[in-house]
Amino acid sequence: SKGWESGAAELLGESKLLLESSVVEKLSKDYYWYSPVLDGKLKGKLADGVVKAENEEDVAKTLAYAYAHRIPITPRGAGTGNYGQAVPLDGGILLDVSGLNSIIEIGDGYARCQCGVKLGLLEKAARESGQELRIYPSTLMVATIGGFISGGSGGIGSITWGNLWDGNVLEAVIYTMEQSPKRMVVTGPEVQHYIHSYGTTGIVTEVVIPLAPAKSWQESIFQFDSLEDAALFGNAVANDASIPKRMVSLSEWPLPSYFTPLKKQLERDSAAVLLETEAGYLEEVHAHAKQARGRMGYVKEPSQYRKGVSLSDFTWNHTTLWSLRADPTYTYLQSGLSASGFMEQLALIKGKFADEVLIHMEWMMAGGNIIPVALPVIKYSTEERLYEIVDYFESIEVSVSDPHTWAVSPRSATFSGMVERKRVNDPLGLLNPGKLVADPA
Ligand code: FAD
Repeated sequence: SKGWESGAAELLGESKLLLESSVVEKLSKDYYWYSPVLDGKLKGKLADGVVKAENEEDVAKTLAYAYAHRIPITPRGAGTGNYGQAVPLDGGILLDVSGLNSIIEIGDGYARCQCGVKLGLLEKAARESGQELRIYPSTLMVATIGGFISGGSGGIGSITWGNLWDGNVLEAVIYTMEQSPKRMVVTGPEVQHYIHSYGTTGIVTEVVIPLAPAKSWQESIFQFDSLEDAALFGNAVANDASIPKRMVSLSEWPLPSYFTPLKKQLERDSAAVLLETEAGYLEEVHAHAKQARGRMGYVKEPSQYRKGVSLSDFTWNHTTLWSLRADPTYTYLQSGLSASGFMEQLALIKGKFADEVLIHMEWMMAGGNIIPVALPVIKYSTEERLYEIVDYFESIEVSVSDPHTWAVSPRSATFSGMVERKRVNDPLGLLNPGKLVADPA
């Protein structure tokens, strides 16, 4: 006990302060264990207690109380982040904001909602209005909108709409960490400093995101004898602007063998490309597959979208999850390939590492161009070896966003702007301490 609990309970009401060790332990974790590097370093890092906020007033009160008593605050949505973003490095209060969960308005082209709204419910509400989310992580059903904005980057839909920084957050309500926390409404370019900042620059309580007109989506699987053919196909579909799409995801064999719920739908020894394209475009997609010596496999009726098993459950970081389930010694990297040179880069990587690096690719829009990204599944041996692989990737101009650190990347374009906002909004450095640092440990 640090002695602050009774004051907090009095301020917020007993029921909003959770101190039971099993609860504190559970909520002090996210999915950092995907990384054997982080798993070793973050195990045992715990909050002193959890505040379950139900509204903005709870957030404001908690921040003011924590400021007065110099208590660190780590915000938490659903805790599905992969880098220990929501793990308190320095004890203090874990501020669970998942209770701020109302959808305030679904308007024409936008949604306004509280930070704790689950993306799956938001997508459902949007589709009922004839619209849909532009982008969402493959953790759609559990992740919160506030957690996605504060700790995620992109996912399904990014092939058309880019990532979070590409105009996919219109407005955010931010609470600062001061003696009297300010409620700020930020819009336009200013929003960028609250995206992927792990809650270090302020607590997001409400957001406005743009919506797209809803489409009827068709899920399909195409299969190939080689990684090369699959990559050529994926790239061709990704770059065919006449085919509206939400997802193009490639997994080389044996990764598809780990997708147990799809076992019957997948050929042995084949690379698989999982797609979501607009209903009515299958012929065009199939034509690309024939050119790359591929075969059309499982096709789901558009009316069955989101019913039963969804193919998006095997994309983005879910590919890593299925692989880890099959073999706990796997881990992964996140990397950007060259739009014009990715075939050479893939050949170099496979030539050097063979099955130690299994290729999983996604395609996304970046600055008006489609770029291939890779989230390869890596057979882990040592941290040293992992960083040898990273060094090799970088030596052939494959950029790596390291998923084995809990710190916001100092290489991020918005890093200095975030540091500046943090100095003003969080003068005592109490918001998620240790995550926004120039020289990460
Ligand atoms: P949390 O993990 O709770 O929080 C994320 C970060 O934001 C933490 O630093 C937390 O402190 C902070 N935070 C949370 N809420 C707030 C708030 N209201 N104000 C300020 N800070 C806050 N991510 C992707 O981007 N794309 C993917 O496709 C993707 N796929 C994934 C697949 C799997 C299987 C897993 C386990 C993770 C994946 N992720 C992906 C990571 C993660 O699921 C998403 O980024 C998700 O949107 C995070 O939401 P959350 O509510 O779980 O956030």
